[in-house]
Amino acid sequence: MKAKSSLRRVNKKTAMRMAFHSSGLRLTRQRLAIYRELTGRYDHPDVDMLYQAVRKRVPRISLFTVYRTVNAMETAGLIRRVATWKGHARYDGNIRTHAHFLCETCGKIEDMDIGDVSDLCRRVEAETGLTVRRVDLIFHGEETECAAKEIS
Ligand SMILES: [Zn+2]
Repeated sequence: MKAKSSLRRVNKKTAMRMAFHSSGLRLTRQRLAIYRELTGRYDHPDVDMLYQAVRKRVPRISLFTVYRTVNAMETAGLIRRVATWKGHARYDGNIRTHAHFLCETCGKIEDMDIGDVSDLCRRVEAETGLTVRRVDLIFHGEETECAAKEIS
């Protein structure tokens, strides 16, 4: 059991190294810590949320470094910017095509499984002649918990 979990950790680390290598971004301890933090959580944090979490493990990291790293990782295609809420960009470590729901009341961003969207992409390509490489889908609204709070 112990060996298995450490093996999994090694594989994840190798996967991260490969992701950085193929993106052309040099892998540093600080970058790895930020990337690991983002890929390990599902709340689509902004830069400050990432900074607060990462500095617990890397105390000397600065907010500016996190900001710069997140931008570089986004440009390299390692992570995605999913939405902006109240002026703050929110990020996702999961770069596979999936949709999001943004609660405009509390700012929570959740993953949504909407199935295969390649039909939609092909339809757009057929109708416009454009080349579609990926699609960002975000639903804006209010989650059930927030809607219930307003009523009571
Ligand atoms: Zn997501």
